[in-house]
Amino acid sequence: MTVNVADNTTSMNAAVESLKRDAAPKIIFGAGVIGEVLFQACSAAGVKVDCFCDDKVKGPVCGRKVLHSSELRGNYQDAIFFIASANIKDMVDRLKDLGYSKWHSCGLLLRDFKASQESVGSSAFTPEHVEYKVSTCVLCHDNYMNPDRLFVQSVDIIITEKCSMKCTDCSNLMQYYEKPENVELDETLKTIEAFCRNMDDIYEFRIIGGEPFMNKELHLVVEKLILEPKVKKIAIFTNGTILPRETQIPSLQNSKVTLFITDYDELSRKLAELTQLLDERGIAYFSQKAQGWTDCASLEKHNRTLEQGVEVFKECCAKNLATLSEGRLYRCPFHANGARLKAIPDVEEDFIDFLEKPLNEIDSTEMRKRLRSFLVEKTYIEACDYCNGRPYGAPKIIPAIQIDKPLPYKKVMN
Ligand code: SF4
Ligand code: SF4
Repeated sequence: MTVNVADNTTSMNAAVESLKRDAAPKIIFGAGVIGEVLFQACSAAGVKVDCFCDDKVKGPVCGRKVLHSSELRGNYQDAIFFIASANIKDMVDRLKDLGYSKWHSCGLLLRDFKASQESVGSSAFTPEHVEYKVSTCVLCHDNYMNPDRLFVQSVDIIITEKCSMKCTDCSNLMQYYEKPENVELDETLKTIEAFCRNMDDIYEFRIIGGEPFMNKELHLVVEKLILEPKVKKIAIFTNGTILPRETQIPSLQNSKVTLFITDYDELSRKLAELTQLLDERGIAYFSQKAQGWTDCASLEKHNRTLEQGVEVFKECCAKNLATLSEGRLYRCPFHANGARLKAIPDVEEDFIDFLEKPLNEIDSTEMRKRLRSFLVEKTYIEACDYCNGRPYGAPKIIPAIQIDKPLPYKKVMN
């Protein structure tokens, strides 16, 4: 049985009451910050949580143990899971693989819940960041529960290949660009328009590079996204080395916009100045130390069997980081940059080209069908055979080791 909870207060209250009476073990699937807030919400509602399950986090969390998913099999057979990640489809698929079908979306307990910061152990997050993550999660779950809607939690858009740092393990492959360039503005704006026109909702547009502030036209992309009603949030990922220009400030002050600063210690040489400026000018931001890097940036053909490739895709934590680049939609930034670098061959069904015809000639019904199949049903892309993969729980590596010249790689296209 799959547990689906209708979105109205009466049925939600009834579902919570029934959970309280149900003797089955209750497990929170995901032990990050959402899991912690969900634990608080369960406690407040009187629902007893037995443990967490997470392949990346080691327990205890909130005084409960954290199981690896491999420890679930054969135990907790009737367990009911609360999904504590915005990436609900992945989580539901993983539970299905593990033989579990009883789960609840987080909206059941989190919709009107206010987390108390003191009891969220992940003190790296500010109250605003916790709220941001919780609201993203609830919205993503709501959209997942409504299969007629064409929704993405987030989509990345590459606006430059240039970066002010040169990290040898950059997962966006900046270390390979010999002559990095900014993207063409007109093409980028048209791509945004075509994508938004054919989607129902986009929670977050993530502006990435390289370093987005290397592109002087960044604010024009931001302004376009501010005007797109389907886009709820705009995230700009920056490395704390460049201050915004005066012309860029007004767009950054918009309530949709948040800067996500990765703090690379002494490499983020303008961090203090940047945060001071953002505070003074009322620009929202989160700053977090660089962490969680894995060995996922080598570009080489592995010659895996199709079965092995499908497994690499299935286990990948980046396969839903849809990415717009050069008028095309890819499943992940690795593929998008691999294509820009001409290091991965074009396979027609592995991307959607929004600029192959003029915008007013795109058949919306046909495009939505293609988008649904591409975003929801795909089980493999050829690019995975050029990638180490990014499995959940992969060993961590030292972040941001700098190099002084681009790394060599093999081009497969002219
Ligand atoms: S700062 Fe490092 S990881 Fe970030 S985009 Fe630049 S090269 Fe890549
Ligand atoms: S394994 Fe596949 S989906 Fe994942 S990052 Fe690599 S190319 Fe993208």
